[in-house]
Amino acid sequence: MREQIIGLITPTMAVVFMLVFLVMWNRGKMGNYVLAFAASYLFFALGFAATHLLDTSTLYIFHVTQFFYTLSVVSGLWGLAMRVGQPPYLGVHLTIYGLSATTLAVAVLLSTDIAPRLIIVNTGYGAMYLIGTMTLLGAHQREAIDKLIIAVQALLAAQFLIRPVLTLLVESSIAADAYRESLYYSVVNLSLSLISLVAAMVLVGACVYDQIKAVRERAEMDMLTGLRTRRAFEQDVVAQIEKAKLEGVPVSLVVADIDHFKSVNDVWGHQVGDKAIAAFGRVIEDTIRDTDIAGRIGGEEFCVLAWNCEGDAAVAMAERIRKKFGAAKVEGMPEDHRLTASFGVAGRKEGEGYGKLFARTDSALYRAKQEGRNRTLCDGDKRREKASVTPLPTVSTQKRA
Ligand code: GH3
Ligand code: MG
Ligand code: MG
Repeated sequence: MREQIIGLITPTMAVVFMLVFLVMWNRGKMGNYVLAFAASYLFFALGFAATHLLDTSTLYIFHVTQFFYTLSVVSGLWGLAMRVGQPPYLGVHLTIYGLSATTLAVAVLLSTDIAPRLIIVNTGYGAMYLIGTMTLLGAHQREAIDKLIIAVQALLAAQFLIRPVLTLLVESSIAADAYRESLYYSVVNLSLSLISLVAAMVLVGACVYDQIKAVRERAEMDMLTGLRTRRAFEQDVVAQIEKAKLEGVPVSLVVADIDHFKSVNDVWGHQVGDKAIAAFGRVIEDTIRDTDIAGRIGGEEFCVLAWNCEGDAAVAMAERIRKKFGAAKVEGMPEDHRLTASFGVAGRKEGEGYGKLFARTDSALYRAKQEGRNRTLCDGDKRREKASVTPLPTVSTQKRA
């Protein structure tokens, strides 16, 4: 009886974690990966309860627990893969389960010794965790919490693969009716409870971390364009420039401003103006690389820090944005109306920080405006300034008839 009560502590804890994940998923409006974590702990509780409550001499007990534990392992790994945008490899897991369940059925029919059954099921879980660990290693995301998750998955893989072998070296065969009194049973319960507790706490930590990150990103995001706000942009750019200095990577700054924007608001209304700003943000987002940093730094003023990019390449990037925007249709404006924008570009000089770099880029933009708008001017290089100017046909913003 005492053992039964102790044996129920682990599934009870698993149910508590399941509820924690459910609440986080529902209340925190988190991704479905959190729901997969909840499912994993539900199946874990069912598997653990089955091991304790079912009669060990029944033939199907191993099949029942294997079924629930497999569901638990697979839904947990599925959630983890989903969290970092990796494929879950469900087919591979299903194949492992199929092989393992078939071999188990043969082992159960042929012998009353539990040792082979334990090796079969544990090897199956170990293989699944190994695949899960490899999948997570393939993800781009690799912050401290992700490394911790990978370490726990690797530990799970190792303990499922090594533990049965080690324990069975001490206790070479276990009769079915003596299973609950065996050393193996005590070791497995203790290590499984401990490691699943650690795993659950790491997963809860990951969910809290994800939630804080999402809130911070929302606060740093400009609602109209989805790009960074001025404050977030400047913070990120200062950090990126420090990195560029350390690594000796060239960076360039591009500042852009929509031409005659006041009259867009005046003629077509503020809402259409907002749509034009959003369209410009989309063009920037679609044009720059993942390593570049973009932000909306003023009303209709945008800035991009181009990583590992200098001279002609930076001007060419600005020109791509200028041409795409010049061709983009803005909702609410007549079919044949297009807007234009002017660009200033400057490459970072040796020892230069964000302040000076911005000032040079902004003065190039100022000159672009003065020289007729709808063009890209690069700081300092007259020849390049001229070469980059390929104005689009001028489109005037006219009052609606
Ligand atoms: P220029 O070609 O010299 O840039 O002329 P401009 O009319 O675009 O001048 P400026 O850049 O100074 O104009 C900025 C205008 O942008 C002023 C303001 O009415 C408008 N604006 C600022 N923020 C927003 C916004 O969030 N939405 C809308 N619709 N308009 C905005
Ligand atoms: Mg403007
Ligand atoms: Mg402006």
